[in-house]
Amino acid sequence: MSGIELASELRESRTDLEIILYDRGPRILRNFPEKLSNYIAKWFRENNVNVVPNSLIDKVEQGTIYNNGTPEPVDIVVWTAGIQPVEIVRKLPIDTNKSGRVIVNQYHQVPTYKNVYVVGDCAALPHAPSAQLAEVQGDQIADVLKKQWNHEPLPEKMPELKVQGFLGSLGEKKGFAYIMDRTVTGRLAHILKSGVLWLYKYHNG
Ligand SMILES: Cc1cc2nc3c(=O)[nH]c(=O)nc-3n(C[C@H](O)[C@H](O)[C@H](O)COP(=O)(O)OP(=O)(O)OC[C@H]3O[C@@H](n4cnc5c(N)ncnc54)[C@H](O)[C@@H]3O)c2cc1C
Repeated sequence: MSGIELASELRESRTDLEIILYDRGPRILRNFPEKLSNYIAKWFRENNVNVVPNSLIDKVEQGTIYNNGTPEPVDIVVWTAGIQPVEIVRKLPIDTNKSGRVIVNQYHQVPTYKNVYVVGDCAALPHAPSAQLAEVQGDQIADVLKKQWNHEPLPEKMPELKVQGFLGSLGEKKGFAYIMDRTVTGRLAHILKSGVLWLYKYHNG
């Protein structure tokens, strides 16, 4: 997602650059409806951004990127392929998933240390890490802590962690969104994204 936004912003500000977007999946945003992928792919085609599907970047060297072992000359590489928990978390003697995120129980506690809660990008959760997900999880942790402080029993089953969806921009005018199982593309999606950014800015003072 960050790669899509960056490539589109870069294209609009620098028409002279050759921009290549390496994507791990067979199509952009492979876990979401094809309509979104097609919309974004069309924008990139029309704006001369080369998207390379099924990529696996195995090495980056000064001036060269290796995709599935094949070297490609590049001037600059911007890595937007996700993040991993900080080293201190990765090295803890507790169970983590293959991305190094800590496996938590439904109360967001480390199963072997129930007084330890893990929230946000360091936690192994059923959705991709996002600020939105961290907020929902944070609310649930606050509820659990309140119950414990009041010596109340914890619910047998915690509510499902629900995220509203996502919003992305394609340059200064267009955008794409997946909200409540619906896809939105074009100008409206861009307006929605700008609105949310404005709200967050206002909310955080
Ligand atoms: C480019 C980009 C764009 C994004 N866009 C969106 C978006 O549009 N919508 C969305 O929902 N999410 C977005 N995300 C993801 C979102 O930013 C993260 O999922 C969210 O910030 C995770 O919250 P967190 O509290 O787990 O981690 P963070 O917000 O990263 O906070 C972790 C904090 O811990 C501190 N820290 C780290 N190590 C230590 C240490 N050893 N000691 C003390 N402090 C430490 C860090 O300095 C940091 O302040 C984006 C992420 C990136 C990188």
